[in-house]
Amino acid sequence: MVPWQLAALANAIILVAYLAISLAIGRGLWRARQWRRNPLGLATAAIFFSCAVHHGSHTVHLMLPYFGWGMHSGIAMRHAFGSSFNVGWDLATAAVAVWYWTLRGRFPALVRGAAVFEDLRLRQAAEATLRASEERYRGIVETTSEGVLLLDGDGRIGYANSRFAEMLGRPAAGLPGTAVVDLVAEADRQVAERELAGALDGGTRRLEVGLLRDGGRVMWAQIALTARAGDHGVLAMVADVTEQKNVEAQLRQAQKLDAVGQLAGGVAHDFNNLLTVIDGYAALLMARADEASSRDLTMIREAATRAGALTRQLLAFSQTQATEVRVVNVVGLVTGLEEMLHRLIREDIELVVTTTAPSLPVRADPGQLEQVIVNLAVNARDAMPGGGILTIATDHVDVGHELATQIGGRAGEYALITVADTGDGMSAEVAARIFEPFFTTKEQGKGTGLGMSTVYGIVAQADGHIRVDSEPGRGTVIEVHLPITTAPTVDIPAQPMPRELATGTETILFIEDDAAVRMLTERILRTAGYHVLSGADGRQALKIVRGNPDISLLVTDVIMPGMNGRQLADRVTAMRPGLPVIFTSAHTRGVLTLNPDDPTVAFLEKPYTATGITQKVRAVLDARTASTATN
Ligand code: ADP
Ligand code: MG
Repeated sequence: MVPWQLAALANAIILVAYLAISLAIGRGLWRARQWRRNPLGLATAAIFFSCAVHHGSHTVHLMLPYFGWGMHSGIAMRHAFGSSFNVGWDLATAAVAVWYWTLRGRFPALVRGAAVFEDLRLRQAAEATLRASEERYRGIVETTSEGVLLLDGDGRIGYANSRFAEMLGRPAAGLPGTAVVDLVAEADRQVAERELAGALDGGTRRLEVGLLRDGGRVMWAQIALTARAGDHGVLAMVADVTEQKNVEAQLRQAQKLDAVGQLAGGVAHDFNNLLTVIDGYAALLMARADEASSRDLTMIREAATRAGALTRQLLAFSQTQATEVRVVNVVGLVTGLEEMLHRLIREDIELVVTTTAPSLPVRADPGQLEQVIVNLAVNARDAMPGGGILTIATDHVDVGHELATQIGGRAGEYALITVADTGDGMSAEVAARIFEPFFTTKEQGKGTGLGMSTVYGIVAQADGHIRVDSEPGRGTVIEVHLPITTAPTVDIPAQPMPRELATGTETILFIEDDAAVRMLTERILRTAGYHVLSGADGRQALKIVRGNPDISLLVTDVIMPGMNGRQLADRVTAMRPGLPVIFTSAHTRGVLTLNPDDPTVAFLEKPYTATGITQKVRAVLDARTASTATN
């Protein structure tokens, strides 16, 4: 028989130990705020607490005789282990034990004996590490410049980062659940479906497709699809390559237009020679024709003039037209055109001309620049058959590097001419071709298809850039950027058109490789009284110069086989210093840049007329006489 003192001590020790355990677990639960969510912990604490109370009761009963409250140890033992309180408490402990037992399925560790109770601090630490790592990866995924998508087995979006939503201009909340192929442009949908299926079968696929932005615009995307191990889904990384595509397209376009331009320039050159001959002989015939024939000849000459205007447009496109470049104020030029534009467009179209800068000096041929604005205005008018608003705005803009790559030029200060209409607009296919010569969507006889190609050529020759922004039904905005020049503006009054043959008796050396043009010009100059020596190329010219000391003027074609006009003029003026020179050409292919201050060097554009060439010859000879007189 254990002495009651020993039994009381053992029970007290167990009481303290169990109480300490239950308090430790309870405190852990409280601190981790798990006392509701962690039934295992709660049940464990309850069992220990219940047992602690049980042993406490035993201790108290066993100690009663020791304090001498008239109870001998036998009764005390009975009270300690057989009182009704203890029986009730036994039942409560048993209930907690049953509860504990029912939890075993949810906490297998309990039964397997690996752990009775999870260390809450360890678990908290593990959760914190997981959270931190999740946040880190979320941060990377959310801030990357690429769109990131997780697709499920059906190709539907499960997750999309905010960058992807931003790329498409769509609200991020609307993306989950969308089938990704529905975001792909119609034309690329089949490819996208095939590649997605391939990626779902395992492996990585790369594709380049158009994605539909909000509002129907297309964004070019490079997409990498990678099958995800584990959940039969696909990870899609999406890069926006629209800018790159645009630059490539611009380059291709520029190369194509350059090739067509060279072709057009070549054709126009020969064609101009023919026109010079047609008009020239018609003019000579007119001198001795009767009235009826004279009327017919006038018709021939008018047709030749119209054909000449057409070739000038082609030459402007090929950027080989001889230009009279000077400093032009774009603001003045546009406001000066306003009156004429009012007449050009119809009454149901409202013309709004705005400017934000007082002066925008650029280097260009003012006549050509006017043609740019007129062509753009006519196109805008044609695009608004039911009326609308035509806005022409001029602005001063600082083009940064980003915009510079977009317009395909250098950063710097530009004059911006914006011509906007509220008309029919155009499809991407049409917009891609408008600069091609002879491309028109207008019915036979309504359009020549040369308007925009002329604009393109003129703008490019002035070192400018042109941008088209248009959508069917939404109107068109055309932006022309021209580099601002710092040189001061000079206004040169327009020369009146010459009407009559200007005569003279001087000796002229005339060099032209085209035989028909040469014969005609010789005849014209002789008719006007000049003594003409002529040759077909530079070698012949030099021979003539050596044998004829009394030559007063050299008239030479610029583009010739062998020695070009410029080289010939240099050789001849070396032999005869101060000899005046007139260059004739339809285009100069960069051979010629004239000093406008030198009156002894002049340029005559082909096709020239009989009056045109004689007037020019007279003017240059007179300028030479004047300058030698003053010297
Ligand atoms: P044309 O006016 O003789 O057809 P252009 O070279 O001037 O030739 O223009 C080519 C084509 O570009 C036009 O036929 C038209 O389809 C399209 N285009 C040009 N400007 C506009 C505009 N402002 N709005 C709609 N379409 C335009
Ligand atoms: Mg046009």
